[in-house]
Amino acid sequence: MMGTVSAYIGLGANLGDAAHSVRIAIDLLAQLPQTRLSACSSLYRTAPIDATGDDFVNAAVHLETQLDAHTLLAELQRIEHSFGRERPFRNAPRTLDLDLLVFGSDTIRDEVLEVPHPRMGNRAFVLLPLHELSPNLEIPGLGQIAPLLALVGNQAIEKLGSDR
Ligand code: ADP
Ligand code: MG
Repeated sequence: MMGTVSAYIGLGANLGDAAHSVRIAIDLLAQLPQTRLSACSSLYRTAPIDATGDDFVNAAVHLETQLDAHTLLAELQRIEHSFGRERPFRNAPRTLDLDLLVFGSDTIRDEVLEVPHPRMGNRAFVLLPLHELSPNLEIPGLGQIAPLLALVGNQAIEKLGSDR
């Protein structure tokens, strides 16, 4: 495809049936226009870090897309809203969080979009699913994923069985 970009999305949920929400969200991502879902990671369970509430379920997906980064972000927000996400306070529990982690080799820093996602480099719940998808991924500005992952080995994260 002409003008196709390799993008990675991080998914997280910690309200209600979080694993179910993540699975539904992956199905919705697979239906985005001008986009192909080329791989999705396992689901992982993690304790909340800068957030409140139950454990999180996290995953990552790899998309090949012809959408531009801002249009893709708008699509992610549309999916988040369809899950009835309310944010009464910063880092409140959320039914679904979709983050645009990496968009090709682009670095974007504007009012609505920062890519690579500013906090991805020190979060095991982002790096581990991403590493499962692309062990040789080069993250613009951060470098290879493997050495980053080695630095977050102290963060508790558990891979969920595929039957859950
Ligand atoms: P968190 O950083 O914990 O994911 P939120 O999901 O509540 O926090 O943040 C949503 C806001 O972050 C939106 O207003 C969106 O414009 C902004 N944002 C900036 N960069 C990104 C990105 N790469 N992916 C998703 N949202 C982003
Ligand atoms: Mg977010």
